[in-house]
Amino acid sequence: MSSSILALIIAILLTIGLIVKIGVISLSIGAFYFLFSKKKLTVLQTGHGANGFAFAFEWNAAREPISINQIQVKLYNPFSTPTEIEVTREFAPQKDDFGIDVDMGPGFTKLLSIAGFDDAGITIILSSKEGVTTVFNMKAFAFKSKMEDSKQTVAVWELDNKKGPTKKFYHTVSRSFIAEPLPSTGNKTLKIASNPEFAGEFTAAAAGGDGEAVENFSVSKVWIEDGCIVCNACEDIYEEVFEVTADTCLIRDGAPLDDGLKILEASDACPVEVIKFNRA
Ligand code: SF4
Repeated sequence: MSSSILALIIAILLTIGLIVKIGVISLSIGAFYFLFSKKKLTVLQTGHGANGFAFAFEWNAAREPISINQIQVKLYNPFSTPTEIEVTREFAPQKDDFGIDVDMGPGFTKLLSIAGFDDAGITIILSSKEGVTTVFNMKAFAFKSKMEDSKQTVAVWELDNKKGPTKKFYHTVSRSFIAEPLPSTGNKTLKIASNPEFAGEFTAAAAGGDGEAVENFSVSKVWIEDGCIVCNACEDIYEEVFEVTADTCLIRDGAPLDDGLKILEASDACPVEVIKFNRA
């Protein structure tokens, strides 16, 4: 056998070996994702009574970057009437493993108490804004007993799984009130805080001294318009009223509305001016 034929055979064998290795590595990676990156739904304890459904959903968000924002619970029983009943709810988009307690409304109570429930099947469909759906199927009685048996609330699940609202932090540059003395115009001088001539007066007013006090006021309504950049500024100023979540800012239930000055301060501090309110 000539040396060139021998070299050709060795090259072919090496190439085949390389292809086999690549195939084995790809299969191993696929098997790893199949075994360890499976999407998982955990039924949790709801705080919304008969209409509530609390659950946690886990998936590989790095591999599948989607925003889950809808749940649909479908009951199907071909031997009963109606054969199919479904309830759908949307919620704030979730970009990573999350637990949530959803008020599904009275339709959910009806779904759980429908005739022939124990013989029915339940399909839970989680959908993302991008159109990706994840489907879980189970027997209706198993679904119900999971709901009844679960002792884990969303808060406990978040603690156990070290999840929590991820907040972005912004640093604001502190203001400086140091200024050069302002020139006089004839015998007139500007009465502003940065004029050293009047600095004492303004300091006294700020400290609650003899300066003119600004009267507080109540507001009848405060709300957040679209465009919040979750900078936290409002919550830092008045956390009893503003709650900054992962995606937006909310007004807390029962927020006090009698300190209009503080709400005004938060509104002024909002970099995108989405905090609005009406004076009472
Ligand atoms: S409402 Fe304004 S101040 Fe509050 S977090 Fe959103 S952007 Fe920041």
